[in-house]
Amino acid sequence: MTRLFFMGQGFAKPFSDLSLRLFFILTLIIPGTTLEAEMTAAKTLFVVMDGIPADVIERVATPHLDQIIRASGGFARAYVGGEIGGASESPTISAVGYQSLLTGTWANKHQVFNNDAASPDYDYWDIFRMAKAHDPSLSTALFSTWEDNRTKLIGDGLAAAGGHKLDYYLDGLEHDTQRFPDQKAAANIKAIDVYIAEQAADYLLNVGPDLSWVYFQYSDDVGHQAGDSAALDDSVRFTDALVGQLWASIESRQKMLDEDWLVVITTDHGRDAINGKGHGGQSVRERTTWIATNSGCLADRFDDTPAIVDIVPSILAHMTIQVPSAIQQGLDGSSFLDC
Ligand SMILES: [Zn+2]
Repeated sequence: MTRLFFMGQGFAKPFSDLSLRLFFILTLIIPGTTLEAEMTAAKTLFVVMDGIPADVIERVATPHLDQIIRASGGFARAYVGGEIGGASESPTISAVGYQSLLTGTWANKHQVFNNDAASPDYDYWDIFRMAKAHDPSLSTALFSTWEDNRTKLIGDGLAAAGGHKLDYYLDGLEHDTQRFPDQKAAANIKAIDVYIAEQAADYLLNVGPDLSWVYFQYSDDVGHQAGDSAALDDSVRFTDALVGQLWASIESRQKMLDEDWLVVITTDHGRDAINGKGHGGQSVRERTTWIATNSGCLADRFDDTPAIVDIVPSILAHMTIQVPSAIQQGLDGSSFLDC
């Protein structure tokens, strides 16, 4: 009796612990269980189609953007440029917009006021730095037709900008004049955008990084050369098809794998109302941009003219990335997602 009692007692406790462990292990590996569902990988792709005003993206047929939006998401007019006449007023210039996109802050904070981007204030962290500080195992990638996005704005590898934050990048092809020699009418940039899209689509499909940025430049070059024109409309259709390649990769992954992708596509500024060749000022058309997304979690804020600085907080919310309070407090935007 005594022996059995002790055996029973000795057996009972370890059995309970083992049962609990087995329960957790099984719920982790059996598809469809609650814990397994909670482990769905939240991933993000954000894309810039450079210099496309809201009225143009709305008028020109963009079947690939439409497909992304139709999946469950939405399209909204948005704005860049900060507060007119306020401290945050920011030139509607490309690198200024990219840095607002990357840091969730306006130019008075990130200190990029032109395309030279000579001295960004890296105390305002970019989204890749936020992701890596939260969890170094989060994988990151950049595909860009403009090298300065990585070397200057993200400051990848610079100690002041948080060191190396990109696990993979493809850029700098604009300097390869042997491979992309045809500079007439930005044909080289068009060819680079094509290559960037192909490579990004392949990498997204096969690697599926947790956080990645794809940047396309051609539409802005056409805008500067031709202004509002059939050529600009063509460049929008062209870039829309490139975005479609990226979306096909993500759709494939979501069908095969337990991944929850947030896709955000935007532009960095509008164009002037005179002929569409320029930008940089604070006119309504230069400030009015747009955001397209596949997200089925859109809050009212999304329909109330979100700002480019709302994209970082939205990505943080989707990926449940925690940032230091000083960085959080410095953000100028808020998430437009509510789940
Ligand atoms: Zn631009």
